[in-house]
Parts: sequence; structure tokens; C-alpha cells
Amino acid sequence: MREQRDDTIAALATAPGSGAVAIVRLSGPAARAIGAAITGVDARPRYAEVCTFRGAAGEPLDRGLVLYFPGPRSYTGEDVVELHGHGGRVVSDSLLAHAYALGARPAEPGEFTLRAFLNDKLDLLQAEAVADLVASGSASAARAALRSLDGQFSVHVATIQAALTQLRVKIEAWLDFPEEELPFDAGEECAAAIDTLLDHLEALGREARSGAVLRDGLSVAIAGPPNAGKSSLLNRLARYDAAIVTDIPGTTRDPLREHLTLDGLPVTVIDTAGMRDSADPVEREGLRRARLEVGRADRVLWVVDVREPLAAALAAARENVGADRPFTVLRNKVDLLGAGAERPSAERAENTHAAPGATMTEAADVPVLGISARTGEGIDALIAHLHSVAGYDARAPGTFSARRRHVAALERARGRLVAARAELGTALELAAEELRGAQAALGELTGELTSDDLLGEIFATFCIGK
Ligand code: GDP
Repeated sequence: MREQRDDTIAALATAPGSGAVAIVRLSGPAARAIGAAITGVDARPRYAEVCTFRGAAGEPLDRGLVLYFPGPRSYTGEDVVELHGHGGRVVSDSLLAHAYALGARPAEPGEFTLRAFLNDKLDLLQAEAVADLVASGSASAARAALRSLDGQFSVHVATIQAALTQLRVKIEAWLDFPEEELPFDAGEECAAAIDTLLDHLEALGREARSGAVLRDGLSVAIAGPPNAGKSSLLNRLARYDAAIVTDIPGTTRDPLREHLTLDGLPVTVIDTAGMRDSADPVEREGLRRARLEVGRADRVLWVVDVREPLAAALAAARENVGADRPFTVLRNKVDLLGAGAERPSAERAENTHAAPGATMTEAADVPVLGISARTGEGIDALIAHLHSVAGYDARAPGTFSARRRHVAALERARGRLVAARAELGTALELAAEELRGAQAALGELTGELTSDDLLGEIFATFCIGK
């Protein structure tokens, strides 16, 4: 995949179907000649010229504009020709068929952007931002993708890479000395340099996590015993009656999924069937699906009636949610406690002695919140809690778009740096190796050191013509 390609690709660059304009794009060494054969015009670079597009027998197909961008000053870095015609499937299909007959081949998904990447017009972070910009589901996600496309993520990675290179040069130079030990001063200096890099990486990791959440959203499953108010909570969050609410247990059977934006955070909320033993085969199937959703959600909200003792609720949550899913206990219906009654507060389970019915439990890290799906009490705190567990900061100044793979690579680089710092005083050889590893992890972000398989996977998710 890495070698430069010498063939010419063509595809429809606009959305298929009818529209005001349809753009057929060509890229590669034959683009100019194919464009000239179709238009009869030897187009001037970067000028829009009106012309007639013709088919194989010279028959007119459409009238439109031809644009020619000679490489390397083009999107792909190769010669690019664009034919802007009247929107319509038939005309653009005929244009493409003719372009293929003249030697172009159909572009694969994302192949224009892949070529831009291979020709160093974009790094991999920017190429992925192109796809994220196209797919963005909210204005904030689009802004974040644009920041990545502008290179705001890449520039941080490049800065860290440059500092790492300097550090490695220094350490590799020391390694050439037979005793393989850094003098004390130089050791201190390297340790300080690694600490600075770690600070930078951690800040970058936080922003990347926020960016990844903005792109992927957080999936939240609402689960709990029947009649606790799960469907009411979904409706409260969705601000309309998405789910049927009754006081008949077992109303929700199929998991119900809503895509919401909660104060800027994209969240998929899944309402599941109440967890209880049932002989009804439909309800049992609902329960099976509920467990499936609980098993794959980023976060489970375990809803209980506030009048139920907290210890019992925690035990049931633990039993049903499973050990590896993070969950929050929501004690619903606090409105029934009456005015002035003490409310369960947004504290950890171990600190909930203020909550009615609460007992000290061994759960050190289960957040417990009191809410009322009916009155809306506690819902803002719940949304703030979801922001916090997602690592999302709505006010973070320049969040750029990121993917889970980026968060993982930054985390790997951080781990290698921590290890390098630990080895500094003892085994310089190993410290150097860890620094090399950190650099490789960062190289995967920008695509310098990304495997061809991964590149294939990334570009395959693009649309054709992009
Ligand atoms: P689910 O079975 O867990 O989905 O529970 P529902 O949302 O269907 O609610 C069950 C019953 O509890 C309904 O009669 C709701 O009106 C009632 N309910 C839900 N949330 C609240 C709440 O916050 N306060 C009060 N007082 N009643 C609620």
C-alpha cells in the first residue's frame, strides 16, 4: 500500500442521486489527458472553464465546468481534474464509464485521501479527521474534526516527537561510553525532560479522550428492577415520551435506543427490560437482550426506588451488571420523600450515610445519585456525572477530534515513558529502548509507523470519492 501508485482513479465526489451539481473527480498521471479527451479543453491550472463533456463517440453528455489542479498542489498531491456537471445519476455514470474506458479505474473508498496521505499532503490524524468531519453528528463534533484537520492534534504529537528525538540522541550518545552510566547532572536533566514530556502527554491524552467521546459518544444502559422508573428516566433525558411508562411491571421488552445530546455530550441511552424472574417467554427474551446491552454499554445506570435499602440495591446491581461494567446507582423517586427530607447526594456508596436507608457498604467506588424522573430533580447532576465519567469537558477550549485508537496509542506512549524514567538510573540501555517504544507508539498516530493492514482498515471506512 505504501508504494506510490501510477494508475489514475476516478469517482463521483458528490453524493449519488440527483442534486444541483455532480462532480466527477480524477486523480493520477493520466487525469489531465482523460479530462482533455472528455472536455476537448486543455484546461489551465486552477481556472474554471465552461465546456461540453462528450462520450466515446463524441456525443455530448453534459455542459459544465472543468477544473485542473496540477500535482503536487492538489488535494491528492497528484494531477487532479474535476468535472462539475448538472447533478444526476445518468450523466455522471456516463462520464465515469467514459473515464474508465480512457484508462482510469474506479477509486476505492477513501483512495483520494489515501493518496494525499501517501504524498505527505496530510498525516494519518488529519486523514482520519477528513472522514470524521464528513460523518460528524453534531456541530461541536464537526468543529473538533476541523481542528484535527488543521493539524492541531498533529502539532502536539510532532512537538513531543521532536523532544523525544533530542532525548534519545543524548542517551544514545552516553551509551557509546563503555561504562554506560549517565553522570548525575545529565541523569537529572533527562529525568526532568521525561517529566515534562509526561505532562504534555497526559494533557494531550485528556483532550484526545474528550475528542473521542465527542466522536463516538457514550453508550449508557438503563437497567434495574421493574417499576423503578427506567422508562421515565429515558423520557426525562430525551425530553419527550420515547418509552411507554405504566405501573405495570414488564412493559419494556425490547431494548429501546435513543441518541441524545446531553449538554453537548453525545449519548446513546438504552432502556432495558426490568430485571426480574419471569416465566413469560417474551419477557425472558427481553431480559436476555437487556443483559446483552448491559454487557456492552460504556456505563450502566442501575435505577432503583429510593425507598429500597441501598445495600440491597447495590447487591442486586452487582449481581446483574457484572464485575467489569462500570455502573452508577440512581435512587429514583426522591419526590416521594417529601419536602425537606434528606436526599441521597452525589456521593460514593461508602459515603452515603446521609441517604435514607443507606448502610455502609464495601463498595468504595460505586457512585450513588438521588433523582426524580418525575420532577427532574437531580437530572442536571446526573448529566454532569455522565460528562465526568466520559472524560468530557464541554468547556475545554480546543478539543480536537480523536479516536479510541489515538487514546490507546497515547496511553502506550505514556506507559513507555514511565518505564524509561524508572530505568534511567539503573539500565540506560533499557531506558533507551523504552524511549524508542514511546516514539513508535506516537508514530502510529501520524501514520509514520502504521502497519499497512491498519491503514487499509482506516481508509476502508471512508466513502468512495473521498
Ligand atoms: P420502569 O418499569 O422501570 O421502566 O418504570 P416506569 O418508568 O414505567 O415507571 C414505573 C412507575 O413509577 C410509573 O407509574 C411512573 O409514573 C412511576 N415513576 C417513575 N419515576 C418516578 C419518579 O421519579 N417519581 C414518582 N413519584 N414516580 C415515578
